[in-house]
Amino acid sequence: NQGIGSWPARRARMTPERVALTYLGRDRTYRELRDRAYRLASALGVGRGDRVAFLGANQPSLVETFFAAGLAGAAFVPLNTRLAEPELRYILEDARPSVLVLGEERDGGGLPGRHVEAGAYEALLASGSPEPIDEPVRQDDVCLIMYTSGTTGRPKGAMLTHANLTWNTFNLLVDVPLAHDEVALVSAPLFHIAALAQTLLPAVLKGGRVILEPSFDVERTFDLIERERVTVMFGVPSMFGFLARSPRWAGADLSSLRHLLCGGAPVPEPLIRTYQDRGLTFLQGYGMTETAPGALFLAAEHSIAKAGSAGVPCFFSDVRLVAPDGSYAAPGEPGEVYVQGPNVMPGYWGLPEESAKVLSADGWFRSGDIGVADEDGYVRISDRMKDVIISGGENIYPAEVESVLYEHAAVAECAVIGVPDEKWGEVGKALVVLRNGGEPPDLLAYLDGRLARYKIPKYLQFVPELPKNAAGKLLKAPLRTLYGSDLH
Ligand code: AMP
Ligand code: MG
Repeated sequence: NQGIGSWPARRARMTPERVALTYLGRDRTYRELRDRAYRLASALGVGRGDRVAFLGANQPSLVETFFAAGLAGAAFVPLNTRLAEPELRYILEDARPSVLVLGEERDGGGLPGRHVEAGAYEALLASGSPEPIDEPVRQDDVCLIMYTSGTTGRPKGAMLTHANLTWNTFNLLVDVPLAHDEVALVSAPLFHIAALAQTLLPAVLKGGRVILEPSFDVERTFDLIERERVTVMFGVPSMFGFLARSPRWAGADLSSLRHLLCGGAPVPEPLIRTYQDRGLTFLQGYGMTETAPGALFLAAEHSIAKAGSAGVPCFFSDVRLVAPDGSYAAPGEPGEVYVQGPNVMPGYWGLPEESAKVLSADGWFRSGDIGVADEDGYVRISDRMKDVIISGGENIYPAEVESVLYEHAAVAECAVIGVPDEKWGEVGKALVVLRNGGEPPDLLAYLDGRLARYKIPKYLQFVPELPKNAAGKLLKAPLRTLYGSDLH
């Protein structure tokens, strides 16, 4: 088995007694992680090409299910716990997993397919064989299908192979010199690529200890950093913002921290400076689910001189900036960011046409982001072509929110725009034109239960009309100027 499912066993060969996972004060060694992954892999009853879904917050069963699926040659499909039931059902019907493993805090009521409830998990695991199952898993097999919403409004499953994730780990380790004794705090959700690929996998590869947290909590983060002497963590900018604004910040002992990985959204310069004043330098990166995720990386030694930039391409990857006419953008000129390399996904699950739109025959992936390179090749992400709002590290696709709003009988027209927000970076604002007559309905209450909470606009304003071009196409840019600063 050449896949990532074999990593706990490979690690257990070298360092069986080391702690692999700490969860709510309980340790599990690499030997235990290997044994449990072996048992689960045989007990799940899945094989090469199947899918295994997981719904739940960060917890050991998520990590075990990931490795067990990999051992069996099945793709792991982690589900975003914040999604509403109709959204989850859509993904499950698309991915058609053989089994859905549920975290402690979830029940599978209303969701299709075979489930393993948390209460049945240990018994299932105990029923499995302690021997490794014999599946000829190859590096090019799909290891992970991670759903990421699209500008078309429907989530798409980005397929990542064992090779994609392995090369991303190498890309990371080239620039972040993780040691064998790393203590990695994983509190960002593992159903997103960054926590999984930028902390969990590199830490396991090196035989470090992973402290799993069910969710991000400011107090607990400070407690763990101080008590467990955390050396490395990943966060989206808003997480690091919460820490810096906490009353604990000034007095906290942060001396154990060696590597702070920050990305997933633009990192505000004042935040970089706040951390620098404490002697803490962000390792910044730019990437996306489809590139597993690292594409650009800004090393610590350049973070001051190149503040605001997302860095240069990762060691094994290449990045091009392509101008609208198809030529390469010169330094100082904006261009769409294209990424090529062994970390780039082979495509979206079951969507060859959508995949062909973003992947060229020679393997260049179109990101939909706009970047500008300086004379030294450092790229600043300056804009986005795709209509997406990034709020606290979660992507909100206006098209998806708009399509649910349009299902309401009173809505004649609507548009969702991103507006700046101190806490979350950006939040959504809905502009709605009502059908004539009647009281304005409570549209935010209507969205509750139909969409994940984070996608529900923070602001809503009823407007008489929406600006359009001559062809009748809605224009979003003027909306931001007209309504982007009127926040109530
Ligand atoms: P996701 O689809 O959730 O993986 O999000 C990927 C998107 O997040 C990228 O296409 C960018 O738009 C945005 N992003 C990620 N990292 C950065 C960064 N360092 N600076 C600006 N935008 C970023
Ligand atoms: Mg995405």
